[in-house]
Amino acid sequence: MPADTPNGLYGPENLPYGVYSAAGDPGRRRIGVRLGDDVIDLGAAATELGSPHAALLTAQTLNPLLAAGRPVWTAVRADLRAWLDERPGALPRVPLADVRLHLPFDVADYVDFYASEHHATNVGRIFRPDGDALTPNWKHLPIGYHGRAGTVVVSGTPVVRPHGQRRTPDGPVFGPSRRLDIEAEVGFVVGAPSRLGEPVPQAAFRDHVFGVCLVNDWSARDVQAWEYVPLGPFLGKSFATSVSAWITPLDALDAARCAPPERSHPLLDYLRDDAASGTEPGGFDLRMTVTLNGHTIAEPPFSAMYWTAAQQLAHMTVNGASLRTGDLFASGTVSGPEPHQRGCLLELTWSGEDPVELPGGTRTFLEDGDEVVITAWAPGPHGSRVGLGEVSGRISPAAAG
Ligand code: MN
Repeated sequence: MPADTPNGLYGPENLPYGVYSAAGDPGRRRIGVRLGDDVIDLGAAATELGSPHAALLTAQTLNPLLAAGRPVWTAVRADLRAWLDERPGALPRVPLADVRLHLPFDVADYVDFYASEHHATNVGRIFRPDGDALTPNWKHLPIGYHGRAGTVVVSGTPVVRPHGQRRTPDGPVFGPSRRLDIEAEVGFVVGAPSRLGEPVPQAAFRDHVFGVCLVNDWSARDVQAWEYVPLGPFLGKSFATSVSAWITPLDALDAARCAPPERSHPLLDYLRDDAASGTEPGGFDLRMTVTLNGHTIAEPPFSAMYWTAAQQLAHMTVNGASLRTGDLFASGTVSGPEPHQRGCLLELTWSGEDPVELPGGTRTFLEDGDEVVITAWAPGPHGSRVGLGEVSGRISPAAAG
């Protein structure tokens, strides 16, 4: 089994980037690269080994590296691979268990999409049982909304149950959300910015997108259902969005590229990605697992997503909106065609009608103390597997009042 190689899902074909502080020096943040169960101190390695990019790699966030662009990303990764091959003993490293992981980049703008046809269809049936499951625009553009960048938190950060308005037969009431949910998603981290007024075509995806993380877009469904008409998600989403501490570079996912599902409707030129359009395969074969209190509740396949990240990038800039270093755009809930492939409790329990069975009882929505962990892996080169960093969070009781 590839996962039994010495470094497991974090071998030399992976090498995700993060930011950590060591136990003995908690005030200093450093850029690290995960190898197996160790973290390589990338700044120290680059300095000792004379890398021309040492200044970027001794920063306290990934942003300077992100801003440097693809030629530098490729060069840094090539250097790291060469160091690992030729002088692995020269690389300063610490056990992962001895470090604290931080939010690895300063999030600029956060956009969340709605790219799974299975998720959108299920949610449409639940929220609008008398109408068409998919809205008329769904097959023509990747639907999204601008989220709240300032409340993106790193994996492991407790999530406080939010307060909000919910609708009752007697009118709206205010209090802690009773329908707190997850959304298992994949996030794409923008490195190189773009200029205002200049759309970014799908073909420039690799020039602008640095890498991939896992995302849990926590959602208060009762708040969401009451507030979202007509402008979309707001306070039901903005209280917290968790991201994994490790950003896997796109270059580590070349073997995972795959064609997206066949398009059932013709697309406008800037979104076309059929063979004749000349675009590279836009999908990623990421196998996700969602656990609730240690018990697997879903295994969503990212390869089933209808809209690709390249299409999302092209769409969110086609009006001339510019990209900034640190922009994060997430896929939307990843759900496959099968019931056990649904990436949120709203779908898994069919809006609470069909509870999920757990060893210690059942769940419709999250209870205080519940812990959700999302993991994923992708096929790597030569039969290896590339792990994405996990994203976890535990629900804390609502604040008093
Ligand atoms: Mn979402």
